[in-house]
Amino acid sequence: MKKLVVCKFGGTSMADSKTVAQCASIIKSDEARKFIVVSAPGKSIFEPMKVTDALIACYKEAKETGSCANAFHHVRERFERMVQELGVDLDIKSELDAVEKGINEHTETLDYAASRGEFLSAKLFAKVVGLPFVDASEFVFFDKHGNFDAEYTNDKCREVLGKYDGAVIPGFYGVKRNGEITTFSRGGSDISGSIVARGVSADLYENWTDVNGFLVADPRIVDNPQKIEELSYKELRELSYMGASVLHADAIFPVKKAGIPINIRNTFEPENPGTLIVPNSEYHNGKVVTGIAGKKNFSVILIAKSMMNTQLGFARRILSVLEYHEMPYEHMPSGIDTLSVILDTTGRSSEELEAIVREISSAVQPDSISVIDKISLVATVGHGMFKKVGTAARLFTALARNNVNIRMIDQGSSELNIIIGVANDDYETCIRAIYEEFFL
Ligand code: ASP
Repeated sequence: MKKLVVCKFGGTSMADSKTVAQCASIIKSDEARKFIVVSAPGKSIFEPMKVTDALIACYKEAKETGSCANAFHHVRERFERMVQELGVDLDIKSELDAVEKGINEHTETLDYAASRGEFLSAKLFAKVVGLPFVDASEFVFFDKHGNFDAEYTNDKCREVLGKYDGAVIPGFYGVKRNGEITTFSRGGSDISGSIVARGVSADLYENWTDVNGFLVADPRIVDNPQKIEELSYKELRELSYMGASVLHADAIFPVKKAGIPINIRNTFEPENPGTLIVPNSEYHNGKVVTGIAGKKNFSVILIAKSMMNTQLGFARRILSVLEYHEMPYEHMPSGIDTLSVILDTTGRSSEELEAIVREISSAVQPDSISVIDKISLVATVGHGMFKKVGTAARLFTALARNNVNIRMIDQGSSELNIIIGVANDDYETCIRAIYEEFFL
């Protein structure tokens, strides 16, 4: 059977006529690349604004004044220039007129306007590479609350794309069953690419962006970190939960259902093999640690009570308080007489946190309860640490050597991830120390 590859090109790859021509040459260099998902034109050295942001400005202008004529000028000019420079046979004026009119008529939600960058980008790219345009509104579905309807979408995607040998499809949006255009969250074309890969049963999902793949650690903290050559879906999930952001965090789910690998590639360095994300957690990249990621600004509620371990329903009562406040918890490490609840309190008021502490107090009558703020969580992730004696010792010794005080330790039973809590002030030192220990 012939190999089938789905490619998704991001905003910087679609930014101007030069980058679009580069994407076209990538498609032409491998005949397995048949189904292409595109983002709206993003930023480039010549273009300071993403088309999606320009369209959001159009929506605001249309809502306030009844017409987006002013703000739409930028979008019009940008697409007209690309069509002209690429010399493609596309009646871009009629397309742009229809979009401008549509934005003026759709002021009840932002999504119609926001989606038009991908729509126009796909129309353009379809002409450039000589493949049919297929609208995502034919097969990407959301329920009436705007939640993605994965299974219905997959059935429809198979049915619709099954009729084609190849196509160019706009990313980022779909429709509700009533036909209303609905978008994913920003960066959502990564999810669209994954949907198409699952729908056409691709052998590989190539996600073309402007970096060579995932790095072992944040380059703003570690100088010139190594690239991750290969990692598993599970490792990716752990790393992106903690803030590694090359791919939209939800993009993994459609391909995961079908076991399709994702290859992150760089449009501007196509010879670089990028990072390969594989379904199998038993693969071996030969490393103990695959990557390090972290996030700042967590709060920890520390609860102590003698004989806690003998009290039935202790944790349940604490969790009920959190549930009542619609506050998810991140981790809950416990000792014999102590339990800590780690919360991401971004966007929550100090009054709300105080109310939670008060209610937990009255629910479980602890011996003591206190809150520490400004805690960072750092995750050291890797299947290679499974049953590998001495990994934790190396990690903690490295931190001790660098004078980092560990406030909390949490290792899941899968031995895939050791999460530690440190003061925000120690965050950068902590990441550098772990990197030095495992990678230098
Ligand atoms: N164009 C959208 C954004 O700027 C979606 C995407 O590029 O994936 O977020």
